[in-house]
Amino acid sequence: MTAFSPFDGQAVSRFAPSPTGLLHLGHAYSAVLARGAASRFLLRIEDIDGGRCRPEFVTAIFDDLHWLGVDWDGPPVIQSEQAAAHDAALAKLRDMGLVYRCICTRADIAAAAGAPQGEQPPLYPGTCRGRSFDFAQPFAWRLDMAQAIARVGPLHWHDTLVGDIRATPEIFGDVVAARKDAGTSYHLAATVDDAAMGITKIVRGQDLLTATHVHRLLQALLDLPTPIYHHHRLILGADGKRLAKRTSGATLADLRASGVDGRALAADLRAGGLPHGFSFDPKP
Ligand code: GLU
Repeated sequence: MTAFSPFDGQAVSRFAPSPTGLLHLGHAYSAVLARGAASRFLLRIEDIDGGRCRPEFVTAIFDDLHWLGVDWDGPPVIQSEQAAAHDAALAKLRDMGLVYRCICTRADIAAAAGAPQGEQPPLYPGTCRGRSFDFAQPFAWRLDMAQAIARVGPLHWHDTLVGDIRATPEIFGDVVAARKDAGTSYHLAATVDDAAMGITKIVRGQDLLTATHVHRLLQALLDLPTPIYHHHRLILGADGKRLAKRTSGATLADLRASGVDGRALAADLRAGGLPHGFSFDPKP
């Protein structure tokens, strides 16, 4: 396996924001590192969440990237337009008998698990596995995790910061492969699109490191190649909290409005420097 350094400029890489809010400094860091890793750099707009995505946030992504001086190759890939590929992948999982329909709501799952609904949803207790019900009601497709893992055996992936990692997708339980409202899921859509786009290096924040366990499993099940990963450190705001799309003063639009030069910021980020008041999260 070839190990890419994040800055060797040889990879096919991408930036894949969701237009559900304004980008913040952490997104800029992902985009700048991914751009620096790539000889070919692609932009994908992850807009499968029809209820939360807004066209004005797509425009803001383009504006922010132009301001940073981060250019991309070819037209942006619009994830919602890749539905046929997502459907084909789901059909393959269905043909393998590895997904099942699920009508449970979040509240059902929390109640079945006897846990309060918190930040971390409880693992799905398998209520709908092998259950028959009226398909007129909306349903999601869930991956039968134990069967999926048994089919492909032990898996690994490589992260340029952490090293070789054994995939442990079982931490997600029977994860949703296709949402009730979207016909796909972040995990399935991102995995299928990354392969279709020929991505060889994925640069994104450490908050998505655990998602890679599921992506690695889907790659194995769907016969897709495994990119090299670089899950970068997250950025904390002045309050010591991780940035969120709603963190005031941390959006790229805020920084631009306060007179920051986007290209200079991109150069600093690339060299590991952050604007005053921001710091890297020491915790992995
Ligand atoms: N769309 C995801 C986000 O905005 C990123 C997905 C990825 O890089 O795989 O957090």
